[in-house]
Amino acid sequence: MTLRGDGPRRGDSLSNLGVIKDGALLVRDGAIVAVGARAKVESRPEARRAEKIDVGGRVVLPGFVDSHTHLIHAASRAEEYELKITGATYEEIARSGGGILNSVKKLRAATSAALKKRALAALKQFAVYGTTTVEAKSGYGLDVSSELKILGLHKELNVEQPLEIVSTFLGAHVVPAEFRGASDGTERYIKLLTEKLMPEVAGQKLAEFCDVFCDRGAFTQEQSKHILQSGKWRGLTPRVHAEQLTRTGATQLAVQLDAASCDHLEQVNRSDIRALAASETVATLLPGCDFHLGLKKYAPARELIEAGTIVALATDYNPGTSPTLSMAMILSLACTQLRMTPAEAIAAATINAAYALRREATIGSLEVGKQADLAVFEVADYREIPYYFGVNTCWMTVKRGKIIHSRDVGKN
Ligand SMILES: [Zn+2]
Repeated sequence: MTLRGDGPRRGDSLSNLGVIKDGALLVRDGAIVAVGARAKVESRPEARRAEKIDVGGRVVLPGFVDSHTHLIHAASRAEEYELKITGATYEEIARSGGGILNSVKKLRAATSAALKKRALAALKQFAVYGTTTVEAKSGYGLDVSSELKILGLHKELNVEQPLEIVSTFLGAHVVPAEFRGASDGTERYIKLLTEKLMPEVAGQKLAEFCDVFCDRGAFTQEQSKHILQSGKWRGLTPRVHAEQLTRTGATQLAVQLDAASCDHLEQVNRSDIRALAASETVATLLPGCDFHLGLKKYAPARELIEAGTIVALATDYNPGTSPTLSMAMILSLACTQLRMTPAEAIAAATINAAYALRREATIGSLEVGKQADLAVFEVADYREIPYYFGVNTCWMTVKRGKIIHSRDVGKN
């Protein structure tokens, strides 16, 4: 499946996978130099000198682009998982010092080395599940040194292991405990973000994007606008956590600010959908979050697709609401809960996700000139990727032409 073609996928074009039966790719220096029918690719003179990797008729697609993760965190929140099962809501847990603030406390106490070790183990697993690019957000530090520590780790990890890390500054995740209580606490925290942290982040080139959690219990639409505009002014492209718990108008704000993506969207209304459809802002759906929290209301994927929105899918890998790094599991949820077809889900997790990260020129499809980022699945038909839920059928993962994961190579 090449996912080739012009522009982001909207409406019917979301189902167009660009399938080549008995296909082949020719790769040089990590980039694709030819893609097409095997006989044609093999007849090229440079193909004769190339090292051949035979994937034995398996399904090849672009490596998954996971455009929304909270990669760096210190520990799981399994204790809250149990509380939720026995009846506490996500917001009740957050009010009693759990939730994001629980992760903040643990992260501030963790050493850089421990955080890095945990992230490296996770990144290895992302590769095992067929993901080749991972967006990573800060947001569990919420003070100057801890946020810079997380963003610094993004930068180090990007060069010290094979997956590509796209860094996002999410200082506006929630207001940290030490700023709560006083009436001007939120205001003072926003000032710290925009006047102290952002200049550091932009100056040291520690992030490309600036994100805000615009929701009940986090930041209002007006506060979000101020933060995102400050980020934009310093060269950080906006993206927004929008309409997850309540409808706040964050989607309209995202469109107004020309945000790269607008994520969650469980509570969007018709006018939000219309605004997104008329924009270049990608609607990133995170069904793993609703599944893990046991919520019944998922984002209205069918309405979004039919209106012409650019829909993407991501794991939202994080310790509180979506502790998975399996994009295939997200595809399974997209099919059964969001009523997306397997083809639509795959396009949403590859080429449209590349648009959400403004990386469409280099990743997200198998086309000449793009990076050779591939996932090979041990299935007879691409529909079996979401069909086999909760199991990993990824057989090989390739990043910039190098094999970074393989199951029984040589026995194909
Ligand atoms: Zn998130």
